[in-house]
Amino acid sequence: MKRLLLVSTSLMWVGWSLGCSTAKHGVLGDLPDPVFATRAAVAPVVVPAIEPRRERPRNAWRVPRGWMPPSGVSSRWTCIVVHHSASSSGGAEAFDRHHRNVRKWSELGYHFVIGNGTDTADGEIEVGSRWNKQKHGAHCKTANNHYNNHGVGICLVGNLNHHPPTRSQMDSLARLVNFLMRECGIGLNGLHTHGGVTRRTECPGARFSLAALKSRLRTEVTAVSHPR
Ligand SMILES: [Zn+2]
Repeated sequence: MKRLLLVSTSLMWVGWSLGCSTAKHGVLGDLPDPVFATRAAVAPVVVPAIEPRRERPRNAWRVPRGWMPPSGVSSRWTCIVVHHSASSSGGAEAFDRHHRNVRKWSELGYHFVIGNGTDTADGEIEVGSRWNKQKHGAHCKTANNHYNNHGVGICLVGNLNHHPPTRSQMDSLARLVNFLMRECGIGLNGLHTHGGVTRRTECPGARFSLAALKSRLRTEVTAVSHPR
């Protein structure tokens, strides 16, 4: 009994010492360190984790009806060739007229034209009559005509030696190329520029970056293949 009382008294002493020590530090001791005070004021604010809203992947878009030809997509396409118009303005109608009247071709040589806000809206994708018919292009002449026979020709309106394509044009180009790659089973190594193929033209201009387009497509194609 005596021993129990002794232990109890000891515990009381320890408790009193701790309480006294705390009181001395808080009330009678030095003023709190300002850094500590700041930390103490900020630390208790706990922001609850918010579940991120599930959004559709950036490229989860609906394919425009006009992109699917009436007869379906031919198996002839093995590559894509990007061009610029080398003009400040234009659109499928103006280029079609030029190709018929000046070049003496039967119709617009490209399969698609992407506007820059002059003749058509910035980033607007026009489908050429050749794409509807799944007919060879007239946009990238080589000795064996491989790129006209098997390449989908896309023209960005503008002189891309003077300025880069607009953001909307690049968004549309990435979307269109993404569609074509999937529909035609074309890989990134089948994506070319006119000058890259022929080495005889600056088309589609020094301010167009095929590398940047490919880099973007790598991400977007992955996003399509692995939906969240
Ligand atoms: Zn070209």
